Amino acid sequence: MGAPRVLPFSVSMLGPVLINFGNDEQRERFLPGIKSGEDWWAQGFSEPGAGSDLASLKTSAIRDGDHYVVNGQKTWTTLGQHGDWIFCLVRTDASATKPQTGISFILIDMRDPGVEVRPIITLDGSHEVNEVWFTDVRVPAENLVGQENMGWTYAKFLLQNERIGIAGIGQSKEQLVSLRRLAAAEKKNGKPLIEDPSFRAKLSEVEIELRALDLTNKRMLVETARGTDPGPVSSMLKIRGSEVAQRLFELKMDAAGLYALPFQPEAGDAGWNDELAGTLAQARSAPHYLNTRKISIFGGSNEIQRSIISKMMLGF
Ligand SMILES: Cc1cc2nc3c(=O)[nH]c(=O)nc-3n(C[C@H](O)[C@H](O)[C@H](O)COP(=O)(O)OP(=O)(O)OC[C@H]3O[C@@H](n4cnc5c(N)ncnc54)[C@H](O)[C@@H]3O)c2cc1C
Repeated sequence: MGAPRVLPFSVSMLGPVLINFGNDEQRERFLPGIKSGEDWWAQGFSEPGAGSDLASLKTSAIRDGDHYVVNGQKTWTTLGQHGDWIFCLVRTDASATKPQTGISFILIDMRDPGVEVRPIITLDGSHEVNEVWFTDVRVPAENLVGQENMGWTYAKFLLQNERIGIAGIGQSKEQLVSLRRLAAAEKKNGKPLIEDPSFRAKLSEVEIELRALDLTNKRMLVETARGTDPGPVSSMLKIRGSEVAQRLFELKMDAAGLYALPFQPEAGDAGWNDELAGTLAQARSAPHYLNTRKISIFGGSNEIQRSIISKMMLGF
């Protein structure tokens, strides 16, 4: 099963933004709830017309006395159905010459009147993402992070941390162990699948990729501890990490064979029956495989990460 996961939106995304760009009051108010996990944060960046082209976002925040009035729609909001709070990019200056310069970073209480969460059901049948609608939501001006119209700078900083997290090296290591276990239990031509030369070659290939990724990540961590900005290295980690994770789930589908099809994937507890327990684990492969297709899209698609690398590292 692995260890319980830390909510990335609060710990690795918003926390560092508040530490670097928030004020003392915001740090005192929000960091304890982030650290304890008591406050559930969601990420309100993407909109129906603003994904890869995030700077074209339209959700508006108009200053009205000591409040901002927020109107608009966010989409793909992961786990927003549990959210206490959402950090959002909003347009505070519609007349800015460059779209990036009219954006602010604001914290919205999701329990406020005018906030509505609507579910989106994904291909694997799960409710993981949502639309979040804002209708005349009054947000105290003190919830603005940093300076008005400087949100793009904070968003770029946050996205670097998000992409490093998406690389998901720990989770892929866990998947590799579980894949090995599955391949040892499955038979091909009367022998364990793990002894099949073709399957072993594929398994070794992905393991080598994962080890190389682990080393790159550790090098980046050492550099970051010395004060170097990870910059486009976060894009490299995101691309390779998502490819490795997706490959592992493809191999898991291969290993699970016939039972990978998502028939009654949550068919219940197998109890004492080891054979049935294995079959149920296999039957969950397809929903997991389908779910991991998202990794090359969210946090900025892999195509966009390649553009960032080509611009910032290769100078094209
Ligand atoms: C499961 C899931 C969870 C998500 N969670 C969140 C969340 O919690 N909060 C949040 O704010 N957002 C979230 N997102 C949104 C995610 O960041 C966007 O989906 C992503 O940035 C892509 O934007 P888009 O979906 O609008 O696709 P588009 O931007 O429309 O892109 C469509 C396709 O065209 C390609 N493309 C677009 N522009 C270019 C270009 N210039 N060069 C080359 N190729 C290009 C893309 O790579 C992609 O393949 C989530 C998305 C998914 C799928």
